Amino acid sequence: MNPNLRRAAEAARGFMPPDEGLALHDAAATVPVGGSPMLEIGSYCGKSGIYLGAAAQERATVLFALDHHRGSEENQPGWEWHEPDLVDPSVGRIDTLPHFRRTIHDAGLESTVIAVVGDSPTLGRHWQIPLSFLFIDGGHGSEPAHRDFELWTPWVERGGLLAIHDVFPDPADGGRPPFEIYCRAIESGDFVEVSATGSLRVLRRVHD
Ligand code: SAH
Ligand code: MG
Repeated sequence: MNPNLRRAAEAARGFMPPDEGLALHDAAATVPVGGSPMLEIGSYCGKSGIYLGAAAQERATVLFALDHHRGSEENQPGWEWHEPDLVDPSVGRIDTLPHFRRTIHDAGLESTVIAVVGDSPTLGRHWQIPLSFLFIDGGHGSEPAHRDFELWTPWVERGGLLAIHDVFPDPADGGRPPFEIYCRAIESGDFVEVSATGSLRVLRRVHD
């Protein structure tokens, strides 16, 4: 990975340990040059967007960075992952979009990373573009995670990659839903595991 972008990603605000971010980048950097776009669900302040955007740039494609930018359940006031300075006081709700824009601008990735601001299942029901790489890191509750899996994984092209974050086989380490959708992908027979780094799993579609 380009060392300047790696530094920028490590400095960016968000939820992606450096080794997992690098593994995410390295997996995404294997997609075909000039091929189908990549998409991430859950951009927050742009941290994973730099790791994936760098790969998209290297492979002459683009990254759609999907987020409603209002935060997940666990980012809301009173929850474990709430960051009070992300609340837009005039609206009274979290707004990570300005942070995301600044992060992607400062990384020099505005021509590669395309923000898509909206609700994942709402967009997913209208989406029609095959993907070379899909990263699922949106809502981590049961309903959101399973819905993202059901609506978006059909768009991963054969030979394409599916990455899932926050996969914890041991319940003591974290919530179940990302692990459950990882299991669904494997049990479907359509995906095989390519790599595991921390809580990141990368799978390849081997059947339609
Ligand atoms: N990948 C990020 C962390 C993502 S945190 C990083 O590298 O730091 C999860 C994100 O998912 C939050 O920003 C939240 O707003 C978004 N999210 C949760 N549910 C969503 C939904 N239904 N539609 C769009 N985005 C959603
Ligand atoms: Mg995550």
